Amino acid sequence: MAAFVTRFAPSPTGLLHLGHAHSALFAAHQAENGGRFLLRIEDIDPVRCRPGFIAAIEEDLAWLGLAWPQPLRRQSRHLDDYAAALARLEELGLLYPCFCTRADIAREIEQAGHAPHGPDGPLYPGLCRDLPPHEAAARRAAGQPCALRLNLRRALALTGPLRWRDLDQGWQTADPSPFGDVVLARKDVPASYHLAVTVDDALQGVTLVTRGQDLFAASHLHRLLQALLALPVPTWRHHRLLVDETGKRYAKRNQSLTLRALRDAGKTPSEVRAMAGF
Ligand code: GLU
Repeated sequence: MAAFVTRFAPSPTGLLHLGHAHSALFAAHQAENGGRFLLRIEDIDPVRCRPGFIAAIEEDLAWLGLAWPQPLRRQSRHLDDYAAALARLEELGLLYPCFCTRADIAREIEQAGHAPHGPDGPLYPGLCRDLPPHEAAARRAAGQPCALRLNLRRALALTGPLRWRDLDQGWQTADPSPFGDVVLARKDVPASYHLAVTVDDALQGVTLVTRGQDLFAASHLHRLLQALLALPVPTWRHHRLLVDETGKRYAKRNQSLTLRALRDAGKTPSEVRAMAGF
């Protein structure tokens, strides 16, 4: 097996549960054989993230037996990197400001009578896509809050067909169309998950991106962003999702299955690793 650089990239929005443990152990396992395992903190959303959970994440992962180089990359400290990527996309004429509220979008979708649903929700119906540039610039200059969306049609025309490789599922033809004109900078946060994760994986030299099957569709979009930003292209591997006894994915509601609760209940790290599938 190649020596891969991998990472586990949680958002500090709560305590880690067994699903996270599976994801972290999966990434670390792929970096065995002389690779490197990184921990990255995806904390660009100041409303959902709590700094206190960062220390808890580190403590729980160390208890599980994982190690990673310091200092950690914390996304909130690298907003300049995301701004530079957005500036590049803007230079290429691939971004447009979107002033819509959720209500505007919902109203438009209702009037249209249907809206294809993408992995991140209903597809944006394109209200702001064709705003006259002088109007968009004036509204932005006046401080009207806006998101920045990718003009997907133009982006695809620029790159042409793209491929990417999943270690288990083989070569894929990138199809980011289910995301439509995806948001790359939010109104309240100057980057979106898709942009930040793509930029970070490149800057940190990640060569194997591991994430859950639930994010398989996102990898198609990230391949497009890599091409637009001239970033190196990693390989991917998507892991299964652990489910609780009711067949549902682990989530915050599984309070009794946080690593902290399991440890307090007397479980050993190797018992918890086994529960997480390792
Ligand atoms: N931060 C993302 C999450 O907590 C995962 C990052 C990724 O692997 O794409 O779901």
